[in-house]
Formats: sequence, structure tokens, C-alpha cells
Amino acid sequence: MRVKELYLKYKKLKENAGTHSPSISTLISSIPEIEIDIDACFLSNPYATKLFFEYFKKDLVVTEKIYSTLEYYPSQNSVIAEDISRTIGIDSKQIFVCNGAIEGIQAVLHNVINGKLSIPIPTFSSYYEFCKSNLTPYYYQTSKEEDYCLNLRSYQKFIDENEINNVLIINPSNPVGSYLSLNEIGNFIEFNKSLDSIIIDESFIHFSYESKNLDMCSVHNLINKYDNLVIVKSMSKDFGIAGLRAGYVLMNRKRVASLLEHGYLWNVSGLTEYFFKLLQNVDFRNEYEDVRKEYLLDSFDYIEALNKIKKIKIINTKANFVLIEILNGKDSEEVTLDLLFRYGVYVRSCSDKIGLTGQYIRVAARSKEENLKIVSAFKEYFQ
Ligand SMILES: *Cc1c(COP(=O)(O)O)cnc(C)c1O
Repeated sequence: MRVKELYLKYKKLKENAGTHSPSISTLISSIPEIEIDIDACFLSNPYATKLFFEYFKKDLVVTEKIYSTLEYYPSQNSVIAEDISRTIGIDSKQIFVCNGAIEGIQAVLHNVINGKLSIPIPTFSSYYEFCKSNLTPYYYQTSKEEDYCLNLRSYQKFIDENEINNVLIINPSNPVGSYLSLNEIGNFIEFNKSLDSIIIDESFIHFSYESKNLDMCSVHNLINKYDNLVIVKSMSKDFGIAGLRAGYVLMNRKRVASLLEHGYLWNVSGLTEYFFKLLQNVDFRNEYEDVRKEYLLDSFDYIEALNKIKKIKIINTKANFVLIEILNGKDSEEVTLDLLFRYGVYVRSCSDKIGLTGQYIRVAARSKEENLKIVSAFKEYFQ
């Protein structure tokens, strides 16, 4: 890879793009010579992808059951909800199955809630991008001094002062990875039980833990206690199956029924249905727990190694990625390009994230081998 040539091509692209930088995806399609060796943008557990693929081959490909899975309609939303119900032990009538959590977020924001929605920033952008005229986003700025960790006391004040009726917490948060304990979130939900809705997005919860044995904690069990609770769960990151499109939203029966009354009949494919059936398989679940913990242990080593590198600041995380502040004087776009062109390591520039002050990139934890390569690229580049 001739680095100089790549920069020249990039310069030309940038000139044509006017005041905005070309997006990294435009970059890759316009300069096909760019080689991504490691995609550290992508937030998923690669060991879990491998595990799922083994079962998929054994159950669907070798048996050729894939043929009928493709030929026939999948089950309806409410039937797949029964599969999920058997795994998570929550009434199927409180489960809205979605084609990736993103579809559930859209459904809730467009059809279930209205008025005001408080959104701690920086955040996962869909939560404000999907707000239509029925819903006004209220941005709550987390503080840089507190490493963008959500301060619940100050958030509560914001909610009260602005008379917010719907609130959002992503736990662990994206792109920061900060984590609030089950106890803290539980108190927050109890205190706000008279609001219209409390949305808790637990898309990264499998990467968090509160005890040494790394067991995961979740607010799933509170769904029966609080009528206003809405729990968003993606399967993409923890199970490493973003291409499949699988997620669900837990909320009260009336809300689920009202969504199903007007659509979403066959919104997920037979492959996603297969996944939710597989989740009931105890062997799969046990093996998944093993690869979940293996991935966590590898990422602890990775973060420790990143922490030792000078000229970057690692923000404390309980997710499968780290937000990194760049302290070498370069901006995040430049660092992203340097890492891509020189080392083939593709990280997520956070220059487009609202609510961050300074230069930040987000770097995913990958497999052990890939983590080592990322660390050595960072060492060489920043030191
Ligand atoms: C990725 C992500 C989602 C959406 O995931 P799907 O792939 O649509 O299931 C939802 N919330 C957060 C916080 C995410 O990071």
C-alpha cells in the first residue's frame, strides 16, 4: 500500500466534498486500494459469530433445512415472541420482536411515545434522528470532567426542570461505554414511575458485569413492576449477528398490541426466527456464556494494554469498546486516516458525535489476535 498516494487521493476527494470531510465509507468506495486489515469500528463479539455459524451450518445447511426456511414465510411476530418468552421468562404479550433493535426504536419513537424525550449526549444517534414532529429531543449534556458518565442526580434535575415525560438511558452507553449499576438504575426507575416512559437500551448489557464471575445484570425483571418501562435489546453486538437483524423491545401489553395491530406481521426473517429458537437450546446458551466470558477476559487485557500508551486517554468502559481521547495534537479524522492508511486498522472517528468536547475515536475489542495488532499499531503511532 503506497501511503503517499492514498493521502493525495484523499486530498482530491476532500476538495470535491466542500466544507465536509468525505465519509469513511465514501472514502473506501472511492479509493478501493484502501485495505482494512482490522475493522475496529464494528462492535461485536467475533467468538459469538463463530459459535452461531457452527450451529447454523449444523442445523440448517447440512440438513438442507435452509431450503424451507427460504421458501416459506416465517412465523408471525407474536409467535416468535413466544420463543423469546421461553428464553427470558417474560410474558410474550410484552415482547415486540423487531428486525434489529433499530426497528424497535423507530416503532417506539414514531408510534408509542410523544411529547418530550430527554437524551443524554453523546449518544447513539438514532434516538434523536428518528424524532418526528410528535417528539422533541431534549439533550442532556454529560460532563467531560466526569468522563461523560451519566450523573443520575443531575439528570434527574434536568428531567424535572424541563418537565420531561419520556426519558432515555443507554446502559452501558454508546459511544462512551459508561455503566450504571442495576441498583442505581432501579432507583431511577422507581423515582420516575409516574413518567410516561422510561426507555432503557441494554444493547451492550452482555459486556457488563457487577461481580467477579462476570455474570450479566439486566433490568429485564423490572418490566412487570413498571408499566412505563421500555427495554430495548439488540442481538447484533453480543451475539455477533448484525447481518441477521434480530432484536426486541419489552413494554406493557397495550403498547405491544397497538403496534402489532397496525403492522409488523412478518417483520423478521426465517433466519432470525431460527436464532430465537436456538436461544432456547441449553447447549448453545452454555457455549455462548463461555465465549461471552472469554471475549470479556481478552478485552480486559486489551484495555489494560491500551491504557499504558501515552498521548491517548482511555475512558473507563464496561462495554466491548473504548472511547479514546487523542492528546497528540491531531484531530480525530486525521488519526483515523493515519491508522487506516498506515496500519489497516479502521477505528471510528467520533467527530460527528454531538456532546463530545475534544478529539475522540472509538475502538472496538476484537479477537485476541486482532487486539494485539491494534495495540501494536497504536504503540507505534502514538509513541
Ligand atoms: C447498535 C445499537 C442498536 C441497534 O442495533 P440493531 O443492530 O438494530 O439491533 C441499538 N441501540 C444501541 C445503543 C446500539 O449501539
